[in-house]
Amino acid sequence: MNDQPLRIVIVGGVAGGASAATRARRCNEHAEITLIEKDEHVSFANCGLPYHIGGEIEDRQKLLVATSELLVNRFRLNVRTQTEAMAIDRERRLIRIRDQKDGTESDLPWDKLILSPGASPIVPRMEGADAAGVFTLRNIADMDRIIEAVHSSRGRKAVVVGAGFIGLEMAEQLVRHDFEVAVAELQSQVLPPLDPEMASPLEQECERHGVRLYLGDGIDRIATDDAGNACGVHLQSGAMVEGDVVILGLGVRPNTSLATESDLPLGQTGGITINEFLQTSDGDIYAVGDACEYTYGPTGQNMRVALAGPANRAGRLAGEHAATGSCRPVTDVMGTAIVRVFDLAAGLTGLSLKAAQRAGIAAKTATVVAGQHAGYFPGATPITLKLTYEEGTGRVLGAQAVGRDGVDKRLDVVATAMHFKATVHDLAGLDLCYAPPFGSAKDPVHQVAFVAGNQLDGLAELTASDADLSGYQVVDVRTVREVQESPLAGCSNAINIPVDELRDRLGELDAGAPTVVSCGVGVRGHIAQRILRQNGFASVSNLSGGATIRRHSVN
Ligand code: FAD
Repeated sequence: MNDQPLRIVIVGGVAGGASAATRARRCNEHAEITLIEKDEHVSFANCGLPYHIGGEIEDRQKLLVATSELLVNRFRLNVRTQTEAMAIDRERRLIRIRDQKDGTESDLPWDKLILSPGASPIVPRMEGADAAGVFTLRNIADMDRIIEAVHSSRGRKAVVVGAGFIGLEMAEQLVRHDFEVAVAELQSQVLPPLDPEMASPLEQECERHGVRLYLGDGIDRIATDDAGNACGVHLQSGAMVEGDVVILGLGVRPNTSLATESDLPLGQTGGITINEFLQTSDGDIYAVGDACEYTYGPTGQNMRVALAGPANRAGRLAGEHAATGSCRPVTDVMGTAIVRVFDLAAGLTGLSLKAAQRAGIAAKTATVVAGQHAGYFPGATPITLKLTYEEGTGRVLGAQAVGRDGVDKRLDVVATAMHFKATVHDLAGLDLCYAPPFGSAKDPVHQVAFVAGNQLDGLAELTASDADLSGYQVVDVRTVREVQESPLAGCSNAINIPVDELRDRLGELDAGAPTVVSCGVGVRGHIAQRILRQNGFASVSNLSGGATIRRHSVN
């Protein structure tokens, strides 16, 4: 009988790796578990890094979620920090490691190997990219360097390149330090995963806090002063944006060299291919986290989803499988993500409309603007919630939300519904908690599902918020005052008939003309649409999200 305990080696000691190691221990008290981490810290809170830079998380120690000592004392792990995994020898079941402190190399045997090496920030090859004052943010050391630069900056000006999640978080936190902050983004909007009109309120929020946005303008090169320090960024448009702190938030590349050099296949989006039990093509080697590809729920395709939740859950499952030989299959990932941008929160789960179109899925959307709780209860603020669903079947494909409060709850409800492959009608029927301080008897989730369901059933067609309205009889059913204060954007010929007068003024309209009705956010428009449809108007559509969303959709 072989008395050798099971040897589990894990590469990468943070989100996925630490989850795998601790789960493996909880499942197998006798295994020999080694955690290899090339940096100094294991199990730190990557997601908290921007908030310590800004001083919102005051205590640096709080970012060290589980220290090496805790992992050793409580879980009896062999924790090897400052040790880099160099190469996998699949035939001999060895991994070559290098001690960063003294440069010595050795081979470590494994029976099960879990790869969670994460991803590396993209640094473009361009002039000035390696200058002092240019930073990416991935780990504690990066954070410390940025903090030092923030404190020693003379110019107090920063340029954030890339308006994705980390870029926006950094912009917000640098404003907390009274920096003049500029954000440059190649796409024509911030937070590119969102549909443009959903990102527009975030742009206004950034500008409201003094952040200058350079949208649709990529970085050309980084300017340096005589001492070689970064002093700004030249954009492709020719604009020069000054700043002695430059943060690159250009996305990440998966760390896959260990896998590729040992012939473990990658998928189409460049992540390590795994099966439902997180196993690579070699059944004893697992991969989790930013380095691998998951099945993306809305499309069923494999793709990389560089988020902490999937990494933690996959790590946990891989740890269990490695330790016991079985685990529950990993579930599809929806890419559910959220970010705070000053006083707003925004996020998404699943597909935006543009992502659905890119994926070749026939999708429709519905958008509502609704209070996060009952309007009569103090503190009500609006959430804009946009649902994407499959034409014909009504399967929920995704949601995007932006607002001050309650955005996370709505996205999580939709993500949960998507997990169970819900349709818009299922969503409309969810029994959600309600009391005035928390929500509404018809929650924004219900409301958007009602709108989508009406459209799906042919009861109430919607017109996209950015549609060309020329050629339509456009009826704006807001009050005269509302229209005077805020005319319908991109439409000069709207006929203003307030909804309460509509039944008495039908004669002013052409029942045979294709008609679009519009109001503030779509609610009165829906009522007007039903009135017109039942009074002989053959073709009536409601402008999705009304004048409010149109303002964000057309220039
Ligand atoms: P990591 O957690 O990065 O761990 C990989 C580790 O492997 C690293 O420590 C690395 O040093 C080590 N490593 C790599 N190669 C080797 C090697 N050859 N040998 C030894 N060690 C190696 N996600 C969210 O869902 N929400 C958020 O709010 C959020 N905010 C974020 C904010 C920031 C600033 C950052 C950087 C990320 C954020 N993320 C967020 C993403 C999230 O942190 C990652 O998706 C998650 O950490 C991925 O886990 P992982 O285990 O794959 O990689």
